[in-house]
Amino acid sequence: QVKDKGRFGFAFYTPELTLKATERVRLENDLHKALDLDQFVLHYQPQVDLGSGRLTGVEALVRWAHPDKGLLYPSAFIPIAEESGMMPRIGRWILETACRQASDWRDGGLAFGRIGVNIAASQLRRGDLVALTRDTLAATGLPAEMLELEVTEGFIMQQAAEAIPRLNELRELGIGIAIDDFGTGYSSLSYLKRLPVTRLKIDQSFVRDIPNDRDDAAITRAIIALAKSLSLDVIAEGVETPDQAAFLLAEGCQRGQGFHFSAAVSADTLTRGYAAASQAANT
Ligand code: C2E
Ligand code: MG
Ligand code: MG
Ligand code: MG
Repeated sequence: QVKDKGRFGFAFYTPELTLKATERVRLENDLHKALDLDQFVLHYQPQVDLGSGRLTGVEALVRWAHPDKGLLYPSAFIPIAEESGMMPRIGRWILETACRQASDWRDGGLAFGRIGVNIAASQLRRGDLVALTRDTLAATGLPAEMLELEVTEGFIMQQAAEAIPRLNELRELGIGIAIDDFGTGYSSLSYLKRLPVTRLKIDQSFVRDIPNDRDDAAITRAIIALAKSLSLDVIAEGVETPDQAAFLLAEGCQRGQGFHFSAAVSADTLTRGYAAASQAANT
């Protein structure tokens, strides 16, 4: 229910809506202070080889440790951060923190291929993303080929004229570029051919109902074939069951991430889990 007609025919907002607006303002105020108060944390979700279960990469996912509300997920605050212009600053912290963590893991002997970092639309729009990425790699000592920026199909298409040259410059740094949530946007195949991307991430909405849903199975198969024919890597998101993993593998998708393997976990948990796994492998 959005509006009620008042006694004199005026439309006025219901108390519920006012509460939501107040809540939003409060969150926005809190968000302004969150970086300085060090309230953001990155969690890391393993990406694995679907055949062997071996760790092949991690994706950094931001969370906000809100003082009263507990751990908030991106959908609760990224839209507010985007609308109020805070996302480039937060995104910079995310990129630096993720690269530093990945570099530490590499120094500590934790072997994984790449770290994926999600990039917001506002970051892609800004001219300084290339310099920021270059400087962050230099400052953290992370090899460029270990970083993969994730951009959604929608963001690229909304601003293709600016995005394509920028993505080209990013590629020239030697990093990977993944199209996130692939299949949910509107990229035409001719665009896709021109995009300097290295990987497609099959959106979890298609993975959810494979292998039983015939349409989703067909779409998933088509995305895998498309990636193959364009010589792109492909990874499935949201793999929750052994059946999904088996289907993907049989269709030629080697990589996956999802609750079947692990949710996103803290850096410490990932480090401990990896240490335990490699110890088990060596005995
Ligand atoms: P995404 O990049 O597509 O990330 C995948 C989301 O799916 C994550 O949610 C992850 O926790 C969740 N997920 C992983 N495995 C499974 C599974 O098996 N089943 C289901 N149902 N979900 C799974 P999360 O962390 O809530 O992030 C949601 C979205 O917020 C991300 O989608 C991404 O678009 C955005 N986001 C997350 N972290 C960042 C960030 O650091 N910067 C920016 N700009 N956006 C971010
Ligand atoms: Mg992502
Ligand atoms: Mg995704
Ligand atoms: Mg998503």
